[in-house]
Amino acid sequence: MNFSSIPGSAEVKKVLTEAVKSNHIAHAQLFVGPEGALNLPMALAFANYLHCQNRNDADACGTCPACSRNAKFIHPDTHFVFPLSNVKNDKDEDRFKAEILKSWRSFLTENPFGSLDDWTNFYGGEDKLALISREESREIVKALSLKPFESPYKVMIIWQPELMHPSAANGILKILEEPPPQTFFVLVSNAPDKLLPTIISRTQIVTVPLLDDTDTEQYLVEKFRIDPERASRIAHLADGNLALAARLLEKEEDNNSQQFAEWMRACFKKSYGTLVYLADQYHALDKLSQRNLMQYSISMMRETMLHLAGAGEINRTRGEERQFVQDFSKIMDLTKVEKSYKLINDASYHLERNASAKMTFLDLSLQLSKTLSPAEKNG
Ligand SMILES: [Zn+2]
Repeated sequence: MNFSSIPGSAEVKKVLTEAVKSNHIAHAQLFVGPEGALNLPMALAFANYLHCQNRNDADACGTCPACSRNAKFIHPDTHFVFPLSNVKNDKDEDRFKAEILKSWRSFLTENPFGSLDDWTNFYGGEDKLALISREESREIVKALSLKPFESPYKVMIIWQPELMHPSAANGILKILEEPPPQTFFVLVSNAPDKLLPTIISRTQIVTVPLLDDTDTEQYLVEKFRIDPERASRIAHLADGNLALAARLLEKEEDNNSQQFAEWMRACFKKSYGTLVYLADQYHALDKLSQRNLMQYSISMMRETMLHLAGAGEINRTRGEERQFVQDFSKIMDLTKVEKSYKLINDASYHLERNASAKMTFLDLSLQLSKTLSPAEKNG
């Protein structure tokens, strides 16, 4: 994780890079921000910047051996501590530990803005209070008693220190106050009010604010390649919480993809009863959702076109969506997709000009039915 891959937060980045460049780094920092803020990515970028062998003024180089290890979260001098709850039916503790570190690295890769719930779901933890155990605090002391392996520095990132068992918190007070040379603690907290005052007093606080709507929007457009209008609406709903923005987006895409698949099936089978029913449902949606489904359908037609043209590697779909595009391509050819694409585009144009949603949808469905199975057209 580089500073440049984190949207916004220019002030915080400046403070952190200046501290490293002037060699005035607090030995224990507390990165504070509400859920969905970028304090964990910021801690990762800070560790990367510190370890980088070829850092520039504003960021790590991204290509040196230290950067490539940090990009996979396997740098031997970046240590992680994070909360865990019990995992069902797992009695082999060593194996669990080895596996959980792998899960943690995947989680950071896929969802660096994720919440504690996201993390618990990710590794399949029981729905029970996650915490950082007393045992973990012993591991912290042990890990930091060794010399750094590759970097001049060691970084210990503790995510959600507010979930440290009191005995664990007390167990690290001494080393937090006087860490070994060249060792830096970064505590990453969503709820500093739940930390022991003795912990807080030993740290320097760095506040990582939530993103504003413009930065969130820009991030969504770049990361998920969605259109700016949609990004703007989600950014507004998420209110600076990137984890929430990602969840909203996913939920919306699930809905759209189900509706689109059902619709195309009905068109293909010429199930007119279903199409009338879907037109009623469509009519009942609010304007934005109507527009969304049209835009989604246009984008799926475009993806299918790319797939049929043999340009699958640039298509943007994932998981179930990709499967749908593959299956859909089997019953389509380029002429049919191009025609469907144009039909949906036209309908979308009429909708924008306040044509009746029900009539537009129904008319479009009938035309799509003809296009998808033209053989029966004359029958
Ligand atoms: Zn580097």
